[in-house]
Amino acid sequence: MRFYNTLSGKREEFKPLHSGRVGLYVCGPTVYDYDHLGHARTYLTFDLLNRYLRFKGLRVEYVQNITDVGHLVDDRESGVDKILKKAQELNQTMAEVARYFEAEHLQDLESLNILLPSKMPRASEHVQDIIAFIEKLVAKGFAYKTERGNVYFSVAKKTDYGKLSHRGIAEIITGTRIEPAKDKRSPADFALWKAAPLGAKEMVWDSPWGKGFPGWHIECSVMSQKYLGETFDIHGSAVEHIFPHHENEIAQAEAVTGQPLARFWLHGGMLTIDGRKMSKSLHNSVLIRQALKDYSANEIRLAFFLTPYRRPFDYTKAVMSQGIALRKKIFLALAGELAAETDSAIWQEIIEALDDDLDTPRALVAWGENVSRLNREDNDKLCQIFGLKLKRLSEDKTAQGLASDREEARARGDYLTADNRKSELAQRGFEVIDQGEKTIYLSR
Ligand SMILES: [Zn+2]
Repeated sequence: MRFYNTLSGKREEFKPLHSGRVGLYVCGPTVYDYDHLGHARTYLTFDLLNRYLRFKGLRVEYVQNITDVGHLVDDRESGVDKILKKAQELNQTMAEVARYFEAEHLQDLESLNILLPSKMPRASEHVQDIIAFIEKLVAKGFAYKTERGNVYFSVAKKTDYGKLSHRGIAEIITGTRIEPAKDKRSPADFALWKAAPLGAKEMVWDSPWGKGFPGWHIECSVMSQKYLGETFDIHGSAVEHIFPHHENEIAQAEAVTGQPLARFWLHGGMLTIDGRKMSKSLHNSVLIRQALKDYSANEIRLAFFLTPYRRPFDYTKAVMSQGIALRKKIFLALAGELAAETDSAIWQEIIEALDDDLDTPRALVAWGENVSRLNREDNDKLCQIFGLKLKRLSEDKTAQGLASDREEARARGDYLTADNRKSELAQRGFEVIDQGEKTIYLSR
């Protein structure tokens, strides 16, 4: 297997650090709202990686954090705390908001047939670990406390800072969007610990630097190492996190251990909606749950995987219809006769494509064209890798009732009722295809 490693800027042969198992860390959500399709793309990409590594016989320790301490949720180090803002809007505590959206997040992952990570640690339950880690950074001279009770990482002390995003300190300072806080030594320094705002009651902790809360970057360095070791195999997320988030994760972790944090850094491309960046001001965000009203999880997965994971993905009707068409093609072929023996040249083509930095479009085209030339077992393996779930009418009593209702309605010429039943069947995950006398209920 070869993966494109952002750190080296090259495709590299992947061999796990410890034979037989892989440590994988992916930055999780800040739980103050529902997941949108940008989140979906990241989680689907790394779900595919997780599934493919398992297919290869590797045990995957997959850790994804839950950012529930709010506060520093983006590159800016000031501004509105998003969890607090939501809590005020809903007249709830911050903890209630965080737990609610965490549960909804898990629900969204499951509805896309994403395998849950093996561990999903919450930042709020690791504050003591984070404090201990910051103390080490202070002791080693990489961090400093200010009069205001903030603790910053001193970027100038880390001579290889910028190695992931491939830029120098001067460039970072001039190009930075970070508002320079008045108590920082350099505008490029970033917060490890923030003093609690006056009157803050929730989500603040005692620390050697006074009451406060941890920065966002530090939680990932601490929790990834706690569960996967000082150096682990793969760190993944979306391309917009390369700088500053991942650059800072590396700086903090490596300042303490002197060892590389992760060996491979994989980044998924952006997601746009009809050619435009998703943004609050454009009101064009699409939530996962909204997309699932128009497309099945299988269709979303296939449409997304028809674009290489590193490329930008544009969510349009045309692109999604390719997902629908491919789902139909594969599932119709699976419902028909399959070869007793797999054509090894086709199998090899699919595996070679996936081995080559997860070239999913190439693999899917090869599979879609040749489903019936693979045997049942190998087709099942591919369904597992791509996370496709087939429903059978025989397993759904309600759908069976709808199907016989529809047939009766058709027989008596009541086409309005027949059409209604057809759309109800679609809602339950079945596409109705009439082929002359025969009707096929195909999984969506
Ligand atoms: Zn992270």
